[in-house]
Amino acid sequence: MTTSRRFVLAHRPDGQVRAEDFELDHSDVTLPDRPAMVLETLWVSLDPAIRGWLDDRPSYLPPVGLGDPVRALGLARVIESTLLGFEPGQVVRGFVGWQEHLVTDDPSAWELVDEHPGTPLVQRLGVLGMTGLTAWVGMMDIARPQAGETVVVSAAAGAVGSVAAQLAKSAGARVVGVAGGPHKGRLLLDQLGLDAVVDYRADDWHEQLTAATPDGVDVNFENVGGPVMEAVIDRFNNHARMTLCGLIEGYNMRTRPPGPRNFGLLLTKRIRMEGLIAVDHFNRAREVERDLVDLMDRGLLKPLETVVEGFDALPETFVASFAGGHVGKLAVRLGQS
Ligand code: NAP
Repeated sequence: MTTSRRFVLAHRPDGQVRAEDFELDHSDVTLPDRPAMVLETLWVSLDPAIRGWLDDRPSYLPPVGLGDPVRALGLARVIESTLLGFEPGQVVRGFVGWQEHLVTDDPSAWELVDEHPGTPLVQRLGVLGMTGLTAWVGMMDIARPQAGETVVVSAAAGAVGSVAAQLAKSAGARVVGVAGGPHKGRLLLDQLGLDAVVDYRADDWHEQLTAATPDGVDVNFENVGGPVMEAVIDRFNNHARMTLCGLIEGYNMRTRPPGPRNFGLLLTKRIRMEGLIAVDHFNRAREVERDLVDLMDRGLLKPLETVVEGFDALPETFVASFAGGHVGKLAVRLGQS
């Protein structure tokens, strides 16, 4: 029997999530008599969606229960297994949670991950994981940018936004990234090759948006919501498309903000807006991964990651993630990989 550490939900956050909302706990990790496996967590992905799963409200996944380990996607190594198809040493991807080890008897919840020497494992959570899948479905399936069109991506230096923006570039679009602070703007222009950026934290962000979109906006890949989203909707051309991927601005508010005041423009400008939930598309992960690997091989897609070390860092890193200090995929490394 092994004792393992985990962080459980101690209190439901009241608005802004705090590290005190989580509590260190221990669990016994023993292989049961029925077919099962013991996993050792290698990587935990810190996604804004976790914040939504902590609230007791109906959503696409049930809320995390009080006293339960915090739900999170990640990568784990099989330590022991009596489960058909899983061998010790293999790496799997799934909802590992904020825990060092776990026992599972559900083979359908885990996807085997091939280890390639040239592919850092963390990419299987980022550009080649749920993040890349979300960006790909949202941009290539839903928004479908055409060459020469203007695409605006919010949270463009984040995990999903940085991939979505590069996908639009690879389709020949003119891409404008919205991000906080000059250093993120420089990264988007110099490293990812975007055409223009808008620093939404600057006083003149509205003027920057107008200057960056002289021909209006044909596609909005929305990750944030709020006043910048409204301003982008104001600049929509007829028949623009909007992928509604996230509304992070409201995740830590006690009451979720209302919809945009200019919602009526969707009618008069014949706009198509479509929401997206990545878990609906997990069955397409292999197909999408092949396309993303091809773009990376051709130098058209650069992965961005921010790696934090150690299990102990999970709560503080998650809380800090909403201040926007990281770029690309934010992941915590727990074990040797
Ligand atoms: P991420 O890498 O953590 O990026 C989030 C970024 O949002 C922050 O770094 C921050 O960057 C920016 N931001 C802007 N306004 C913010 C605010 N008011 N509070 C906090 N952050 C703010 O996350 P991600 O994984 O790319 O996710 C981006 C969005 O996509 C989120 O809304 C997330 O929920 C959504 N998402 C949806 C799905 C789906 O299935 N629908 C899947 C994955 C992600 P700045 O410094 O630029 O402000």
